[in-house]
Amino acid sequence: MNATVRRTTLRWSLLGAGAAAGSHLLPAASWLPPVRRLLPGLSGRGAAGHVALTFDDGPSPPGTAAVRDALAGLGVRATFFVLGRELARNPDLGRELAAAGHEIAVHGWDHGYLLGRGRRRVRDELAHTRDLIGETCGTTPRWFRPAFGVLTGPAVCAAHELGLRPVLWTAWGKDWTATATADSVVRRLEPGLVGGATLLLHDVVPGPVTAAALPRLAALAAERALTLGPLGEHGVPS
Ligand SMILES: [Zn+2]
Repeated sequence: MNATVRRTTLRWSLLGAGAAAGSHLLPAASWLPPVRRLLPGLSGRGAAGHVALTFDDGPSPPGTAAVRDALAGLGVRATFFVLGRELARNPDLGRELAAAGHEIAVHGWDHGYLLGRGRRRVRDELAHTRDLIGETCGTTPRWFRPAFGVLTGPAVCAAHELGLRPVLWTAWGKDWTATATADSVVRRLEPGLVGGATLLLHDVVPGPVTAAALPRLAALAAERALTLGPLGEHGVPS
């Protein structure tokens, strides 16, 4: 166990202890950049030379289809954090993503804040989503990203119980805003497109904007000798 792994393990132990004690303070602040920097595993900091590409909130036409087609054109695979409710509505899209080699992960059953939801409800929702991914896509998810990046004590405990690892992001494209364009997404992500980064994008609203940004992000990654891929190949420390 090297020093980095020891530090990471200690931090996860502290996070777990806080959760077990019923303290929601640290987990609920998980989306804040200083908290994510303190927890490199939680923020998805991976191997130098690799960048994890992740998409949240689908699967939902036409955004997911546009992102799927853009990735196919680039020969890039990614991780899709799906909502169980959306997967239930659009099982074929989920199946197509998995068949194309993309990793399917858990974003939750719906997109509500987890704050105020008890452990039993959170566990049931995560289990339901995990099981639906298994039945629909034929894969076992490894990752969990809470809506809005806000983890809670019950969610940390439920994820641990279900074999799901919480992971957030190191940089986002703010592609969900009403004024987002492919230009704005690329400009916002460019400083964070570095080795070990985990990029957060969305395959729903507005999916075509996100899809249009992908070729330029792929070109930037190639210029910087970085490989884009799913979290499962990112080397996130345990
Ligand atoms: Zn989301």
